Amino acid sequence: TSNPDVPSNSRVLMLLGQLEKINGEAMVRDAETARQVTAKILHLIQTQGESNTRDVQTILNILYILSELLTVGRGRRVGVFVSKGGTGILFQILLSNSKELPPSEELMLQLHSLLAKVGSKDRKFGVKARLSGALNVTVNLVKQNLQNAKLLLPCLQVLRVYSTNSVNAISLGKNGVVELMFKIIAPYSKKNTSLLKVALDALGALLKSKTNARRAVDGGHVPVLLALYLDWHRNDTRHRHMLIRKGLLVSLRNITNIKLGRKAFLEADGMRILYNSSTECLPVRTLDPLVNTSSLIMRKCFPKNRLPLPTIKSAFQYQLPHVPAAGPVAQLYSQPPGVDDVVDESDDNDETEADTENDTENEEDEKDHHTSNDDIETDLNKLHPKKNPGRPFEELRVYERFFSELSEDFQVILFLKNAQALSPKRVPMSSSQEDVNPTKGQNPQLQEGCEVSATRQIQSPLLLGGIATRRVGGGGGSNWGSDCGSEGPEDEAGEGAVLEVPDTALLLPLHDPDVYVEMVKGTHSVPQYAEVAYPDYFGHITPTFREPHQERVYGVQRSKIFQDIERLIHPNDILDKVVYDLDIPSCPVIEDDGESLKFNSQFESGNLRKAIQVRKYEYDLVLNSDINSNHYHQWFYFEVSGMRVGTTYRFNIINCEKSNSQFNYGMQVLMYSVQEAISGRPRWVRTGTDICYYKNHFARSSIAAGGQKGKSYYTLTFSTSFRHKDDVCYFAYHYPYTYSTLKMHLSKLEALRTPQIYLRQDVLCETLGGNSCPLLTITAMPESNSNDHICQFRNRPLIFLSARVHPGETNASWVMKGTLEFLMGTSPLASSLREAYIFKIVPMLNPDGVVNGNHRCSLSGEDLNRQWQNPNPELHPTIYHTKSLLQYLAHIQRAPLVFCDYHGHSRKKNVFMYGCSVKETVWQSNISATSSDLQEDLGYRALPKILSQIAPAFSMASCSFVVERSKESTARVVVWREIGVQRSYTMESTLCGCDQGKYKGLQIGTRELEEMGAQFCVALLRLKRLTGLRNHQHLLDLESDIIGSHSCPTTYVMDEDEPSFLEAIDYSAESNDEDAEPENEHGSEAHENPDHLDHLSDSETNHRD
Ligand SMILES: [Zn+2]
Repeated sequence: TSNPDVPSNSRVLMLLGQLEKINGEAMVRDAETARQVTAKILHLIQTQGESNTRDVQTILNILYILSELLTVGRGRRVGVFVSKGGTGILFQILLSNSKELPPSEELMLQLHSLLAKVGSKDRKFGVKARLSGALNVTVNLVKQNLQNAKLLLPCLQVLRVYSTNSVNAISLGKNGVVELMFKIIAPYSKKNTSLLKVALDALGALLKSKTNARRAVDGGHVPVLLALYLDWHRNDTRHRHMLIRKGLLVSLRNITNIKLGRKAFLEADGMRILYNSSTECLPVRTLDPLVNTSSLIMRKCFPKNRLPLPTIKSAFQYQLPHVPAAGPVAQLYSQPPGVDDVVDESDDNDETEADTENDTENEEDEKDHHTSNDDIETDLNKLHPKKNPGRPFEELRVYERFFSELSEDFQVILFLKNAQALSPKRVPMSSSQEDVNPTKGQNPQLQEGCEVSATRQIQSPLLLGGIATRRVGGGGGSNWGSDCGSEGPEDEAGEGAVLEVPDTALLLPLHDPDVYVEMVKGTHSVPQYAEVAYPDYFGHITPTFREPHQERVYGVQRSKIFQDIERLIHPNDILDKVVYDLDIPSCPVIEDDGESLKFNSQFESGNLRKAIQVRKYEYDLVLNSDINSNHYHQWFYFEVSGMRVGTTYRFNIINCEKSNSQFNYGMQVLMYSVQEAISGRPRWVRTGTDICYYKNHFARSSIAAGGQKGKSYYTLTFSTSFRHKDDVCYFAYHYPYTYSTLKMHLSKLEALRTPQIYLRQDVLCETLGGNSCPLLTITAMPESNSNDHICQFRNRPLIFLSARVHPGETNASWVMKGTLEFLMGTSPLASSLREAYIFKIVPMLNPDGVVNGNHRCSLSGEDLNRQWQNPNPELHPTIYHTKSLLQYLAHIQRAPLVFCDYHGHSRKKNVFMYGCSVKETVWQSNISATSSDLQEDLGYRALPKILSQIAPAFSMASCSFVVERSKESTARVVVWREIGVQRSYTMESTLCGCDQGKYKGLQIGTRELEEMGAQFCVALLRLKRLTGLRNHQHLLDLESDIIGSHSCPTTYVMDEDEPSFLEAIDYSAESNDEDAEPENEHGSEAHENPDHLDHLSDSETNHRD
């Protein structure tokens, strides 16, 4: 240092010498020395203050030294300085010297420069500043030195740090700092740009406070900000001042977090200004942050639209036998008539715009401690499985009839000759015309790549038991009718014509179109569907080509949002033509003028409610709510016809509810073309480009959002073109699997029976909707009727499986199909498996939901997988009786070895399991437990571990064994806790695809799902072989040995069926998105996503990490 005024104080001199030495020598070489010196300096400064010498020059000199010291060595020295209390001392000096009149400008400048350096490294900086009273000192300096750029800059830098503390922001706002910042920011100029930048940063931070935002609006600053932005946009032609332009937008973004701000923004023509400026920025990639922030603001300010529906209550109502007063249905229909449930009158009005002004000194700490684990069960009593006696055995005894294999003596059976006779209580299924085709019954194996070459002839129109239904094309002109609701054929030209269609029954062992039609006749739907969707009729043959994850096009979400914004800016371009509407009895509502697509979804599992043509080739689609409900839209299945070949159509499903979707991460929708099917390619294929999923401008009423106001729906948008003229195409969320399909598969399973297989199909119960809930028993016949063999037969451990409690999770049914086919197979593995276990399977726990196109619920309007604790026999019959079966087994000491409920997962990749472990739950929470509480063997990990070794789609890393409070009434937790099944699981299959293993990068198909179901069986066999012993306890020990007690750490997954915001992507409009779910996982893909990268450049969103 070449300061001419050498300080007289010898201690400082000494220190100086040391400092120079350190500084000059090897920088950070001796961190310990640096630390000592820093401590000494701090002590010195302190004692200077105490001894009241107030030698400004001495202090200044020390500050110079400090400044140099802290400039070198970067954050490390600053860290030492902060940890030794340096910040507080600087504030003390600031305060004591501010009392001098006038304060030394040089001292103030140095102090603020130092504070600016230290500020960002001291987590408590804001609190310390406020408590020491430094805020006002800085503010006063700024006020008095508006023209003094040299002093102003460090002061603003410090102010910027102050403002990031929310309590400070409010207090500073009260002291006029918002107005002060508006005095500093200015139109385009090449001078003082760094000052301007810092002022904008401070302003942006201040405006995060709603009180300050309101202050800015009241002060008329929204038009000012817009004008300034436009000025910089126009003049900064070489884009040298991106950060200033961004700063202006950030201020606008924060102001528009309040309703008043949005109003002011719209009044100041903000939409048009930002839309036009963004359009001009689009070609310059480096301006993306500006475009993104602009689009964020525009989306937020986009006036909330009304969902184009008369009511959000399902278009169909089902009269329940009784309506529990507290249940969702009572609430749904208790609204007085005339109440509009689509939008709230008060939707935007009661936004709480007051900041919480409680001054919590530990606010920074609290942020750090924010745990996302609130849902973990911490009640040790609940964590210890307590077998619940449930109903008295007298009542449960009636379930004995579902377990006749446990008592059957086989005395009269001629073994291996007439095993067919062993099919008691077979579900009466209509005869499947198996003898029509002579090649049938040989179960030809599906060969890869082959197309269906054989054909069968069907009458057109196809008749369902006398009910006129869909014509299957044919006849002159091949005019595919899709007129919904038409009671009779309106165009008889094709009647009686015979159409050649592919005979999928030859290639799909469990499929038969004729059987399907028979099954449909016995299926009861609330809307009384009379039509059959072609994909379910023809069946689906897995394509042989690979279907990789769709690569997301850069900026796709943004461009879609811009198109949405154009609706507001150019309203005359919007057609707004309703082309399909379930709420109107005469649906379809329009004449076919050839200008619009035709829609239909009045068939099993269909659920389109309304279609609106918004532009020539763009349609808004609204999904129906689950029956007796007003929400749960996500699943979709509908038909489109009347398309033009080679034209790209855009479809927007505008009332999705989940806040994120795999559609943002490579998943495509599924499409089925009837023309393709007839040409020998009956299959669902992954389709769609420009796919994305984002929060839209349709308001979601608080009634449908659990009482929360100001929520929006989400749009799934995709574009596609059609290859064939006069085609009928279907779109679905995932591979459909109807209840009638299940019945067909079960019927065809009978044909796979060999004399060695014991297969029994029972009807567990009737559903509310009058559909029967099948229960299957599969095992091997006893080898003979000798006592030993009968005894071995009866003593086989039970495996209890179920699926499809959630209708929208069709993948679960495909996995179940794989399991069933494997179990009925002829492979040695399958034989061994049957000999090892007795399988009890409820393949579809929610037939009514599936039939009626629900996403989540049954006809009672409830999620059946939340009813296991206390199922109602009338309202939740399938759950009630399935649980009773398990209770019966527990009573007779035959609780299953494994229970597994198959599900589908909409927001994660791969297949994985959730289980229940006391130990792992305790680990994830803060509860203290004694070691005896934690005695638990690791048997629950064996099955998923095996699966991860043999099933390519399965990922152990995604498994979780934590018991959550919100899951206490799910099958998994109740079967574990009440029935005492240690291996009680939910198996979740992705709807999208895999990011590991053999299928990495591919979307999942039915082949992979069915394979998963088969691998599950193989894993069970391996589980058995692990032991080879009957001693149950020993089995557990062995498993523990194999798994190792220090096994891999568990991944805590917050939400079983609706996982939290797994792959962080800022697709939402609010920067401070209140409904952002806790992020407890970080998907790797998020970082590959260009949209996400854009946001990373925005320092304001870095808190996500
Ligand atoms: Zn589920």
